[in-house]
Amino acid sequence: MCSVIGLFNVPEAAKYAYFGLFSLQHRGQEAAGIASSDGEKIYITKGRGLVTQVFDETKLTKLIGSSAVGHTRYSTAGEDSVLDAQPIFARYDLGQIAVVHNGNLTNAKQVRRELIKEGAIFQTFMDTENLIHLIARSHKEHLYDRIIEALQQIEGAYSLILLSRKKMFAVRDPYGFRPLSMAKLGDGWVVASETCAFDLIGAEYVRDIRPGELVVFEEGKEPRSIQVFEPTPHKCIFEYIYFARPDSNIFGKNVYKLRKAMGRELAKEYPVEADMVVPVPDSGVASAIGYSEESGIPFELGIIRNHYVGRTFIEPTQAIRDLKVKMKLNPIKNVIKGKRLVVIDDSIVRGTTSKKIVNILKDFGAKEVHMRISAPPTTGPCYYGVDTPTKEELISSRYSVEETRKYIGADTLAYLSIDGLLRSVGNDLSYCMACFDGNYPVPLKE
Ligand code: SF4
Repeated sequence: MCSVIGLFNVPEAAKYAYFGLFSLQHRGQEAAGIASSDGEKIYITKGRGLVTQVFDETKLTKLIGSSAVGHTRYSTAGEDSVLDAQPIFARYDLGQIAVVHNGNLTNAKQVRRELIKEGAIFQTFMDTENLIHLIARSHKEHLYDRIIEALQQIEGAYSLILLSRKKMFAVRDPYGFRPLSMAKLGDGWVVASETCAFDLIGAEYVRDIRPGELVVFEEGKEPRSIQVFEPTPHKCIFEYIYFARPDSNIFGKNVYKLRKAMGRELAKEYPVEADMVVPVPDSGVASAIGYSEESGIPFELGIIRNHYVGRTFIEPTQAIRDLKVKMKLNPIKNVIKGKRLVVIDDSIVRGTTSKKIVNILKDFGAKEVHMRISAPPTTGPCYYGVDTPTKEELISSRYSVEETRKYIGADTLAYLSIDGLLRSVGNDLSYCMACFDGNYPVPLKE
């Protein structure tokens, strides 16, 4: 994942970008960056770490101007180094440009190889840099035409915001894998990955950028919309299950409500006799409330999460991941001791985290642990911007549900069905569910 934000015609745009990124921090904690423009020049600061670690008052004050783009990163392409933090900035024949990207380009290696053959020198390992090269090498006169020409050469998932000295461009791939919404702030505009960023800075949601649409922001004009590609929506359903914040509206629907609906469906599909419903915090909470409401089994916060540890799924190495599970989840002994628990989580990826959770709960005296997962088994990796491990590492690609149950040590284990998931999101078929059903809408080129 990653998050992007852009502000146009907003005084002190970089400061708003900072606060916006703060609310989007859950989409990536490895690096953060902001580029701003005062109409003459682009200014940029980026670095490794959380938004609050990368920026301070002095750095923000130097990011002058009334337009800005920002990014929080976790690595799905490229390396975990400061060079690969965004925005990516370049000087080229039309001036200066800064780009932020959420997604993953599926033909990136191929395009990069061709560009290198033609003499391009790359500064980073990021797929997003392809786009800058394609724009810089285009012979079109206007940036806008160059962006369209570049977009026609890339494939995969992209929610992009591009900032030139005087304009801002926001674009979503024709599949609309990743969210991107726009809002009004005073006389200016804001574009962001999630609507929770608008709430924090007091911007008023206007609409989502449509799949395949490019929106151009220019001073003194209303935003101009160009439908560059025919939309073929395959919005990432995993945004609802895991990534997005519950207070965001993603693809026009509230995440919290949908997660509760998933919990309700799960209770209908896989009821169990138990004393309490316990969520794995935080992303299991809303589904656990739904499960509890539907089943009538009381909801209890039996596990407390230490919020000062990053999300385990996002961290890049196994060693850190193992350590962090222990650091971040702690059961309340008095609540769970001697009780039969329905434990609600949003996914089982490698199985290691679930195994540790079941172990800790049993160590703390739980009588029975019934795991219920508010999504279908994850059987395939994502090529569209989510850092899922390889197919071999995904426990559900190798093990049956019963084998997984034995591995994690639960008394019972059940997953929400694909039909149940679809019912939860309103039987809307415009979603990508490739990591669950193997139907990849865009093939990976290598
Ligand atoms: S493969 Fe899964 S995580 Fe990736 S875009 Fe599709 S639904 Fe989302």
